[in-house]
Amino acid sequence: MQVRRSRAAFGLGIVGLLSFLLAFVIGACGGPAKLAPEPAPAVEVDPGPDLTGPLSWQKLEAIEAWLETPQSQRSPDFRTELELQLHEGRVTFAQRDAERANVPHDALRLRLEAARDGFRGLLARSTLMPGQNARAQIGLRAAESLLGTLAKPAEKKPALVVIDRSRWGAATAVPTRLTALRGGWSRITIHHSAEESSDGKGGSVEDSSHTLRLIQKFHMEDPGHRWGDIGYHFLIDSGGRIFEGRDLKWQGAHAGGKDGANNVQNIGICMLGDFSRRPPTPAALKSLELLVADLRSRFPIAANRLFAHTEFTGSECPGPYLIDWVKKHR
Ligand SMILES: [Zn+2]
Repeated sequence: MQVRRSRAAFGLGIVGLLSFLLAFVIGACGGPAKLAPEPAPAVEVDPGPDLTGPLSWQKLEAIEAWLETPQSQRSPDFRTELELQLHEGRVTFAQRDAERANVPHDALRLRLEAARDGFRGLLARSTLMPGQNARAQIGLRAAESLLGTLAKPAEKKPALVVIDRSRWGAATAVPTRLTALRGGWSRITIHHSAEESSDGKGGSVEDSSHTLRLIQKFHMEDPGHRWGDIGYHFLIDSGGRIFEGRDLKWQGAHAGGKDGANNVQNIGICMLGDFSRRPPTPAALKSLELLVADLRSRFPIAANRLFAHTEFTGSECPGPYLIDWVKKHR
């Protein structure tokens, strides 16, 4: 900027001098002689934005405002330099703010996208000096890599509605017969209930609630089970309703293994119905997809850690249609 200011001052000097000489020549050749020349018309000098002091939002805003002015079009070299400084400043602030929890990622993303597009625009010009080209490349890489680390933009996801235990009339769990979750959730296993007590088209929430109470009763009271609660963490009926089963603070009871080894860190989801001869309804599959996606967003469950019950025990559960579904979704 210092250089530019002195150039501008120099320009003003030349213009002033030329005006003076021109007035003198005109005065000498044509019109009546004048002792003093007309004062030179004031030349408007655009001082550009104030670039003194350290990088600040005020400075970036001043640059941004100046780049909008017609004057900026008349100084392409200076304009390029200021565009670089603006985009570099945006990346610098975004890098700093990315480490602060209270700056929303949506705001950072807008800033970084503006910088990225700005650097791309600069790189598309043939007039960049080698040094400016290198700065734009570095800035572009920094903006792109930081953008890659930001949380994905909040998509309008269909709301996941889970019907809680009190709504379906669950019996109280017996903690002394339950095992607390250890080490966090790392896998999901899909089952079917293999019974057709509810309407295949969905039925009412009361029908499904009744089925859930029967399953829970069997799991808690059957002498072969005597579990502390229903074995699954979630159940989905044909209408696509998702019900809360065993609380996620407890390990499930659904995949067997020696001493229940297959249940460790394994979320159990049961689709109500018998799918050995027919597929689940589209509504039920849609809810299953949403639920699995929701669980994966909440817990570090790798894509290949989605299982069908049969993969643990060789049982027919959850039937060929759902086994196919599982394979397609991991
Ligand atoms: Zn099963």
